[in-house]
Amino acid sequence: MEQVECVVVGAGVVGLAVARRLARAGREVIVLEAEEAIGTGTSSRNSEVIHAGIYYPTGSLRARLCVPGRDALYDYCTGHGVEHRRIGKLIVATEEEQLPKLAAIRAQAAANGVTDLTEIDATTAMRWEPNLRTVGALLSPSTGIIDSHGLMLALLGDAEDLGAMLALLSPLERSHRTAAGFELEVGGAEPMRIACSTLVNAAGLGAWAVARGLEGLDVAHVPPRVLAKGNYYALAAGRSPFSRLVYPVPVEGGLGVHLTLDLGGQARFGPDVEWLGDVNGGIDYAVDPARADSFYDAVRAYWPGLPDNALVPAYSGVRPKLSGPGQPQADFLIQGPGAHGMAGLVNLFGIESPGLTSCLAIADAVAMELGEAPEILNHSRGAQGS
Ligand SMILES: Cc1cc2nc3c(=O)[nH]c(=O)nc-3n(C[C@H](O)[C@H](O)[C@H](O)COP(=O)(O)OP(=O)(O)OC[C@H]3O[C@@H](n4cnc5c(N)ncnc54)[C@H](O)[C@@H]3O)c2cc1C
Repeated sequence: MEQVECVVVGAGVVGLAVARRLARAGREVIVLEAEEAIGTGTSSRNSEVIHAGIYYPTGSLRARLCVPGRDALYDYCTGHGVEHRRIGKLIVATEEEQLPKLAAIRAQAAANGVTDLTEIDATTAMRWEPNLRTVGALLSPSTGIIDSHGLMLALLGDAEDLGAMLALLSPLERSHRTAAGFELEVGGAEPMRIACSTLVNAAGLGAWAVARGLEGLDVAHVPPRVLAKGNYYALAAGRSPFSRLVYPVPVEGGLGVHLTLDLGGQARFGPDVEWLGDVNGGIDYAVDPARADSFYDAVRAYWPGLPDNALVPAYSGVRPKLSGPGQPQADFLIQGPGAHGMAGLVNLFGIESPGLTSCLAIADAVAMELGEAPEILNHSRGAQGS
């Protein structure tokens, strides 16, 4: 049987950030990844936006981890040559009735420590962005875009330089509690058993199965899983009609069909919110062309010049949520020993947006759950289990 101090399950952006953080603390780490490459899950199926931290309820983990996480991420990208751009975003009201929502968003942002939002009148916004239709906007200058795969390669490189190891095609199938920690049954072409004292479950959409497969963990600690697919459309031809990100006011379950740019300057629209039911047959990531009509309606609210037949289905991602339609938006759940009573175990559930932006701060919070001193989060902001 292999013996290692820490096992991190999942080589998405969160698992890799956790592996790097634990390796920086001098711990011996193996990352188990079920697929044949890193970052093939939600971490490569998102908007690649570095969020400012505007919308989340004050005091929630999403708010407390996004703001320091964003700052740490900008520093990290600069220091490690990860491609990114602090491009800025406009949050636009398209109807007079939405103007009070902009004021509420600005107040919420300020309460979260995001104090750089500025009001932009409609004339100025439309001068900056001639294709835009708006009755009033907010500018968020600290929103940006990032090469998420470049980030994951940098995190992996850092972790490996500090001695961490990555095992691909190594799905964790079952685990058992032992006197010294955990014994893991790993499947794949070359099944193996690993003994470890620390287990971090960063398996994203698979986190629920990993937790249920841990013998001895009370299932009361495994919350219900709710899945909401987000579909994206791209422009069939041509460059982006906007030079900044453009977001409508938020809708239930997501931020509304917004326009983001990739680092090559191409525009994409999305994600929408498609609640998924039973996915026992596996997740279908194909984008249904029939959803195009709702995209034309949503996008034309702020870009009336969107031509017919301009949108083509692009890709989709699935949000691992803890709340469903009609329910208040749930927070990230970082469940450490204080919550479930198992020393050495941290389960991460519901790490949807802004998980990419917050990955370094989430990793810091996980390290704190395991007794390490914070690197990014100070004690008062500390993200102890919830
Ligand atoms: C539509 C959409 C848009 C988003 N946009 C943004 C955005 O613009 N900005 C932002 O900050 N955040 C955004 N997010 C959120 C962000 O993408 C996620 O929070 C983040 O990628 C989660 O990373 P992760 O490592 O937890 O999960 P994942 O990337 O899903 O990684 C989990 C890994 O675990 C592996 N795994 C699963 N089960 C097992 C097992 N049993 N054994 C071994 N390995 C296993 C999987 O193969 C996978 O590689 C968005 C999310 C969605 C869905």
